[in-house]
Amino acid sequence: MANTKLEDLFLMTLKDIYHGETQILSALPKMAEKASSGELQNALKKHELETAEQVNRLTQVFQLLGQPAKGEPCEAIKGLIAEGDEVMLEIETPEVCDAGLIATGQAIEHYEIARYGTLAAWARELDMREAADLLEQTLEEERTADETLTDIAMSSVNRQAA
Ligand code: FE
Ligand code: FE
Ligand code: FE
Ligand code: ZN
Repeated sequence: MANTKLEDLFLMTLKDIYHGETQILSALPKMAEKASSGELQNALKKHELETAEQVNRLTQVFQLLGQPAKGEPCEAIKGLIAEGDEVMLEIETPEVCDAGLIATGQAIEHYEIARYGTLAAWARELDMREAADLLEQTLEEERTADETLTDIAMSSVNRQAA
């Protein structure tokens, strides 16, 4: 694209995470079903509800831009989910599978944290305050989700897996 503006890159990246979130939304219930730790299962279910709301927020950001909410295949999230599927298929020991589910979840959260951090910073730079607020709200949820997974791993799952 010749003469690309930061607005264009913002929209491209928004489409990337929109597609990513919709994929995560369908992956989370499968991960929760596979989890044997009740605590992990609850955390994944809770984040599924948050993710549905995050998709809503993204739809609002598209609206603020006057653009239709549309995804653009996110190869990174596709790949992370595919790796997670492999873990769920191949690991038969439930406790070890839980550790693998947490690892998958955290890889996904870290990608999302990177994306939302970038998008929120660009929205601020572009004076899109409402969009920046929405993106920062989701960024905070992703950070909390990541921390919750760390806590579950460190307090129980890793020891049970070892
Ligand atoms: Fe998310
Ligand atoms: Fe992507
Ligand atoms: Fe997330
Ligand atoms: Zn982290």
